[in-house]
Amino acid sequence: MFRLISVAGRAALQTGEHWHDLATLTSDPSLADPMAAVARHHELHALHEAAADATPDGLVADVTLGVCVPRPQKVFAIGLNYGRHAAESGMELPPAPLTFTKFPSCLVGPTADIELSGPAVDWEVELVVVIGTGGRHISEDDAWSHVAGLTLGQDISDRPVQLTGKPPQFSLGKSFDTFGPLGPALVSVDQFPDPDDIGLWCDVAGERMQDARTNDLIFDVRRLVSYLSSICTLVPGDLIFTGTPDGVGAARGRFLADGELLVSGAEVIGELHNRCITPAAS
Ligand code: ZN
Repeated sequence: MFRLISVAGRAALQTGEHWHDLATLTSDPSLADPMAAVARHHELHALHEAAADATPDGLVADVTLGVCVPRPQKVFAIGLNYGRHAAESGMELPPAPLTFTKFPSCLVGPTADIELSGPAVDWEVELVVVIGTGGRHISEDDAWSHVAGLTLGQDISDRPVQLTGKPPQFSLGKSFDTFGPLGPALVSVDQFPDPDDIGLWCDVAGERMQDARTNDLIFDVRRLVSYLSSICTLVPGDLIFTGTPDGVGAARGRFLADGELLVSGAEVIGELHNRCITPAAS
């Protein structure tokens, strides 16, 4: 088991409330890069054990965590992957995973500010799969063995931009800078009692907006990894935002406002705390 985090841009392992710089722990400078650490995920289990006997570099509570997977080659995101969310969006269930991209430049850390791009910016809490071992034509049976671990993401969405035109193209409306809070840690799959049944939730300004379990996913993690790899060669660090449950702002007629705190959480993984701000005019 391991929890991979990013401290000052460097890969680190979390043990309880402490963190260990991975390159220092291993005397291997190449492991300072979180992307290299993800690709070597099999080694992180033993390094977690080694870290328990080593002097930590500090307390996690004392540092600002960065993006645990900062430079993915691909960021897939899945639309309408929970039945009740499809219903609240007034759309039919898709026959195959409805896939768009969030460009990697939108990713930010677990406590970063979200810059509101307009009056209808929405929240979408999502389980995020991190590919650890690449491949093409991965079978559903093999899918979990290609996963380095799981983390939590917010698929922040500017609804008018997302839904402009027919057919609408989702990717840019979900890719404004800061629209992809991720973290707080990449958690190895073996830490979940059932990795196909993880509770996740989202609070806006203290009000619970989303509360669901991933056992309600229409296309589960096995299916997503297998399907996406039938089209694209997957590589270590690729991310899959697996879709959001019901309770988004568009269905409530309420969107993120300047100064509001967005708290997103998932069992085992932890929480994201992101303040919404209106960027100064430039
Ligand atoms: Zn989404």
